[in-house]
Amino acid sequence: MHVKNLELKNYRNYSSLSLNLNKGLNIFVGENAQGKTNIVESIYYLSGVKSHRTSRDSELIKWDKDRAYIKADVVKAISDYTMEFLLSNEEKKAIKVNGIRINKISEVLGTVNVVIFSPEDLKLVKEGPAFRRKFIDNELNQIRPKYHHALLQYNRVLMQRNNLLKSIKFSPSNRITAEVFSEQLAEYGSFLCDARNEFIKKLSLIARLIHRKITNGKEELEIIYDCSIGKYKNKQETKKWLLKYYIEEMDTDIERGVTLKGPHRDDLIIKINGFDTKIYGSQGQQRTAALSLKLSEIEIIKSEVSEYPILILDDVMSELDLNRQKFLLESLKDVQTILTCTSLNDINAFHFDNKDVFIVKNGN
Ligand code: ATP
Ligand code: MG
Repeated sequence: MHVKNLELKNYRNYSSLSLNLNKGLNIFVGENAQGKTNIVESIYYLSGVKSHRTSRDSELIKWDKDRAYIKADVVKAISDYTMEFLLSNEEKKAIKVNGIRINKISEVLGTVNVVIFSPEDLKLVKEGPAFRRKFIDNELNQIRPKYHHALLQYNRVLMQRNNLLKSIKFSPSNRITAEVFSEQLAEYGSFLCDARNEFIKKLSLIARLIHRKITNGKEELEIIYDCSIGKYKNKQETKKWLLKYYIEEMDTDIERGVTLKGPHRDDLIIKINGFDTKIYGSQGQQRTAALSLKLSEIEIIKSEVSEYPILILDDVMSELDLNRQKFLLESLKDVQTILTCTSLNDINAFHFDNKDVFIVKNGN
């Protein structure tokens, strides 16, 4: 799939912008703070109806304006889509696909698939678990619309249960309500764990092959689902386990004032040649593992939706050594790529048949 046209109005530092994009490589080059990431952010918005930098639409609207508008023509194998998003400081955002008003965000998710790779992602291995959970969630939200719904519900119920836990010391009768929430939490939670388990199994297989290629067969990458309840078996067992924990160990949670078990505490264990990369990996190994994970994300989307997603490489080239840059760019032959950099020297060593270069200067 690829974005053919992109139109922005009062989006971040763009008053008005209209672009025709190449279905191969698009290079946005410019100095710092000119608007490169703002453009790729608006493309990312198409996939998750959310920025990758903030969950608040109001930050995306140009200062001194009340509304922002994103429009994109997307070409896919089966049909084309015109997607429109009107963001407002005062009202709910309005979404249209092919001119038809969409009321539920879950109905647009999956229409466009975008994978973004930025310097932050190079820390995927090194950083805390929240980072890795976000990686899994972003991916599953795009390929499983039901996952997005379950995650929203899970987080809502989790917050309600946590609030109740804090109040039980003073109002013991709230325990009954907390039990009702526990039931819902176990239901949504086991659904999330099940989807994650399936996704991580796939990810592990693909990432291992990619990692072997990048390291010329020297390193074996292993990705293991570190489910907060222990070794993952299946959805029913997980639901039973969670429910038992939430009800029988409620005093532990009340003591701590938070829910201690569930998918909000999940993680990934990433091993290279049998050793935990987070603890023992060199910086280079951690980066290579992150690159393998990101490239696997592209392949998983391809296998799920039968088309390559759009790839965004925001400022990432100068962070990779020449070998890894080469590997990355060679794997992207059939993928529309939006690349940003501060200097064309970052990618001068490579040859592309199909590319366009855009100079970004002060929101133009
Ligand atoms: P870098 O190379 O440093 O990553 P960049 O070209 O990617 O720079 P952007 O992140 O796209 O820069 O930001 C460009 C400018 O947009 C920044 O100067 C920022 O202050 C401005 N900006 C951010 N949000 C808004 C907004 N809501 N309204 C107007 N301008 C904004
Ligand atoms: Mg930037």
